[in-house]
Amino acid sequence: MSDKDGAAAPTCAGGPSIAVIGSGPSGCYVAQFLGKQWPNADITIFERLPTPYGLIRYGVAPDHQGSKAVTKQFDRLFTTGGVRFAGNVTVGRDVEFERITELFDIVILATGLPADRELGVPHPANATVIGAGALLRALNGHPDAIALHSSAKHGGLGRRLVVVGMGNVAIDVVRLLSKEARGLIGSDIDDRVHQLLLPESPTSIEVLSRSSAGQAKCDVSMLREVLSIPNIAATATGLTPHDDGPVAEMLRNAFTESSETADGAGTRTKVAFHFGLSPERIEGTAGGGSRVHAVSEDGSRRLNLDADTIVTAIGFTHGGEADPCCPSPTWSGAHVYRVGWLSRGSVGTIAENRKQARTVADMIVNDVNGGRISFGRPGFRALEPSMHARVVSFAHWQRIEEFELSSAPPDRCRRKITDVDHMLAVAGCP
Ligand SMILES: Cc1cc2nc3c(=O)[nH]c(=O)nc-3n(C[C@H](O)[C@H](O)[C@H](O)COP(=O)(O)OP(=O)(O)OC[C@H]3O[C@@H](n4cnc5c(N)ncnc54)[C@H](O)[C@@H]3O)c2cc1C
Repeated sequence: MSDKDGAAAPTCAGGPSIAVIGSGPSGCYVAQFLGKQWPNADITIFERLPTPYGLIRYGVAPDHQGSKAVTKQFDRLFTTGGVRFAGNVTVGRDVEFERITELFDIVILATGLPADRELGVPHPANATVIGAGALLRALNGHPDAIALHSSAKHGGLGRRLVVVGMGNVAIDVVRLLSKEARGLIGSDIDDRVHQLLLPESPTSIEVLSRSSAGQAKCDVSMLREVLSIPNIAATATGLTPHDDGPVAEMLRNAFTESSETADGAGTRTKVAFHFGLSPERIEGTAGGGSRVHAVSEDGSRRLNLDADTIVTAIGFTHGGEADPCCPSPTWSGAHVYRVGWLSRGSVGTIAENRKQARTVADMIVNDVNGGRISFGRPGFRALEPSMHARVVSFAHWQRIEEFELSSAPPDRCRRKITDVDHMLAVAGCP
């Protein structure tokens, strides 16, 4: 690749040409493993946005900068590891998937799961039901998140929130929405969106967990962090003496302590965890809000909760079937592989993607060693003439990043650019 912007150009003689589609953690890890296996590989990571790293940038909560720091390791792939970043290229729209399979010896789909799973219970069309993924994208400054904040009703999310789900993403939502300003120091939260969605702190966040406290899916450390937020008053229903395990145990202790502060003058947001309950239906209320009717699996317990906004955190799925950029079953072939959330569903942390990427890389190496894949396709150089004008290289991205870091307002580690055209202008792309 002739990279006039100084990005490391892969040395390609002798190795396979490899296309990774998606620059989230699973795509980066698989590129890392394959690069080690074949130092002469010509590896290109295609990414639909001008910015790399998928959900690390746009999912991981903005106040968890420690989890985002893994990007420093991935940076080295592109600066010294010989991997090419081809940002601003949506496979399926800017270049057909079939063309990628013609041009590359090995193709790996690492496109993740972009859509929030639907709640699947009846609700009026005007009820404000939003997905946790969409909410986190908005608070993380994703360019497509404009739809969320422009559709938020006057007054943003409102002050009474119901969160459905009790995994780590649900806990991220509870934490971010209940934190006071000082809890966001050092983050890269999009302050404009935050202010728009949450002009006033919520009075209540009610969390509906289908599982019991003993089987809660979130990490105990995540819950501990929520419970340590000053000025929240935590309570629970459905927490029984039979529930064991670290989450149940910690909650029992925490509630005894926090109930003492719950009535204190500083109390701001009431956070209630309801175990063993799922929404059954949602109806509109006279004041323009919603009422969530929740029920236990055996129907013996019921709870009705009034809400201005319902945030669903019940997993992720593929984009719409009509979306030509989402891998369909036809995106396959003898030299095509899948990795990450796309291949195993929306479970697992960044570290778990590393483990799985290693397994997929081993499988690819086996296929090559077994003669099922041969080398010789030209790779990115065959695409470059038609792509040159639109590709955002890693050097371009570094200019965007520099700009974001240097524009950070006080108490923030960066201010993200949220508009693709602005990104391209800052990057100096045509
Ligand atoms: C809200 C939220 C918070 C999370 N917080 C944490 C956390 O704190 N710690 C942790 O360890 N894990 C966390 N996770 C989990 C972690 O983000 C995932 O395990 C991981 O991001 C999955 O990686 P992936 O590469 O499979 O997908 P993704 O990260 O989604 O990456 C997919 C990439 O593919 C690109 N893409 C999609 N389609 C195309 C196309 N057609 N052409 C080109 N590019 C395309 C996308 O733009 C994206 O960049 C969180 C997840 C969410 C949703």
